[in-house]
Amino acid sequence: MTKVLILTAGFGDGHNAAANHLCDALESMTDDVQVEILDPLEHAYGALNRVFKKTYRKLIEYAPAVWGGMYSLMDYAPRMGGGNGLGRVRGVLREAIGRFEPDCVVSTYPLYASLIEGLYRDPGSRPFKFLTVVTDSTTINSVWFSAPSDFHCVADEETAAVLRANGIAPGKIKVFGFPVPAAFAGERPSLPDPDGDEPVRVLYVVAAGKRRARKTLKRLMKLPNLQVTVVAGRDPELRARLIKTTQGHAGRVRILGWTNQMAQLMMTHHLLISKAGGATVHEAIAARCPMIVNFVTPGQEEGNARMIERLDLGVVAADKHEVVRWVEKAFAHHARRWRHWRANLERVSRPDTALRLASFVLDTASEAPATPVNRIELLRPIQTPASALAPHRRRPAQQLLLCDFHTHTNYSDGSLTVSELVDFYGRLGFDCLCITDHVADPYNLLGKFMRWSRLTLAPEQFDEYFEVIERERVRAWRRYSMLVMAGFEFNKEGYTRKSSAHLLGVDLKAPINPGLTLKETIAQIHAQGGLAIAPHPHLLKGEFARNTLYLWEHQAEFAPLLDAWEIANRNRLFNPISLKGLPFVANSDFHKPKHIHSWKTLIYAEKDPGAIKDCIRRNQHVAITLYRDFARSQQAARHSFAPAGPLPAEAFVDLPAGGEVPAEVLPVSA
Ligand code: ZN
Ligand code: ZN
Repeated sequence: MTKVLILTAGFGDGHNAAANHLCDALESMTDDVQVEILDPLEHAYGALNRVFKKTYRKLIEYAPAVWGGMYSLMDYAPRMGGGNGLGRVRGVLREAIGRFEPDCVVSTYPLYASLIEGLYRDPGSRPFKFLTVVTDSTTINSVWFSAPSDFHCVADEETAAVLRANGIAPGKIKVFGFPVPAAFAGERPSLPDPDGDEPVRVLYVVAAGKRRARKTLKRLMKLPNLQVTVVAGRDPELRARLIKTTQGHAGRVRILGWTNQMAQLMMTHHLLISKAGGATVHEAIAARCPMIVNFVTPGQEEGNARMIERLDLGVVAADKHEVVRWVEKAFAHHARRWRHWRANLERVSRPDTALRLASFVLDTASEAPATPVNRIELLRPIQTPASALAPHRRRPAQQLLLCDFHTHTNYSDGSLTVSELVDFYGRLGFDCLCITDHVADPYNLLGKFMRWSRLTLAPEQFDEYFEVIERERVRAWRRYSMLVMAGFEFNKEGYTRKSSAHLLGVDLKAPINPGLTLKETIAQIHAQGGLAIAPHPHLLKGEFARNTLYLWEHQAEFAPLLDAWEIANRNRLFNPISLKGLPFVANSDFHKPKHIHSWKTLIYAEKDPGAIKDCIRRNQHVAITLYRDFARSQQAARHSFAPAGPLPAEAFVDLPAGGEVPAEVLPVSA
């Protein structure tokens, strides 16, 4: 078994993108590899690091020149690993390496090379191979190469030349391209000729410069025979505003939120408008999608922008007027300019980089020294919290499963993307996660609940939502041995709390029309083999908007139809559910990371969706637990929580569904 540790950082998206795509490529090539991705900065500084990132984003948007200044200052900073400021990061690295014992460490962020150098003063004593994947191009910061790596893997010849000019031996520089998702290397979807009858398709990714997005979009809509897909990212407010802006252009414009369908989108559009982010530029090249750069973050993105101009793969626009003018120019004269860009892209495009890089990593890892010299030093007792490296658990058949069946992502009003949510739960050691974003009844949008309209999943996103979750389901199982299910929370708001109902559909295979009645919806959920669950069915004091009593008020009618009721929602316990002996589950109703500290369901079953659903339907081997872990860091949570082994089946009380409550489980106070 080859072990590869990939180091990343959440500054800018390029590092994480490279890390994830390399990981996916490695895992797709062989079963004989174990890959872990670690963000040592996140582990060392947690919330503080998040503040840095926010500051970084704000700086980019409002004061690009300031950030440019900061970026070049780093060039002159002394070796960053030498100072005491990064001691904690070094500690996290040492601990992760000691625990995981990688054959190869791959860094996608410049900082870590000098920390590794600090850990192994004598390079011969390093028990693993160390590779740096340079995620910027041409204008690369000297931190990338000021500390030694066995190999520097770079995106292009120009970057290789910069490294050589700075004294890196040519034999240590490998030109692979940027590791884009393997999806780009697959079959290419057909794209209509831009000079034909079908409209030209433009993909507009709004990242920096959001304040200009509306104006640009309005101008684009004035161009004839143009279809625009907008990716608004992790900003539901912006998405709502853009939907409003383009209301009169139905059919010509599609506004998406965050998506992990970028590969498909880029391959099915003629032109991309976006900032010059490292991952975006390289993905556009892999997709052979010409690009109009509308923003360049000073510093690391300047090289990407210059590369587009130098290789003539698109253009860098000076302002929003120019963006739209360039769209016009690209397709004028039978799309002459577009064809020219496209031909250049065909020449330089390397969509299989991740696979070639992965195979190089595997080859390099196989050359790692068999018996490390100083592993003893690394293995001394560790005081820091346990690492979040999730061991690949292969447990026996029946086991205690930690489950959450009610969570939200930023497809509706949650704060995390689907991937982030999956990683969050996966790292905490959960066994089963169901994602249940809000969908609203289109015939029932009452004024006071209009706010839901921008906080619910739009019907035109249903297919994408299911595709994204399906992809994450495969990834979560591979990486965390965690089951991921798709679901909906159907919001049926009435004028009063007694006429309002929410309904969870758990483990859905396909979208369900949110305009159906409650009974029709339940029938559809069951037709798909899913569970129909009543969330927060009872009074929630102080939470007006979530008081949804309809199902509870019509219990006689609905109890026979529903599979379970939430006996607990986040921190609320609903005693009446217990007293009635109704089948129950407990869920976080997760919207943001702090909601993880809440009631959860434990199920004693095989780790299989069918077995789990069966337990809930039969109300057997189901228990609830209060997940509280304030004392330790989030990363350590799974270690302090996880039981030593599965509880025996006798540890569970089987409540008869709808029957009498055994005296010994009656609550002390009502
Ligand atoms: Zn709800
Ligand atoms: Zn909810």
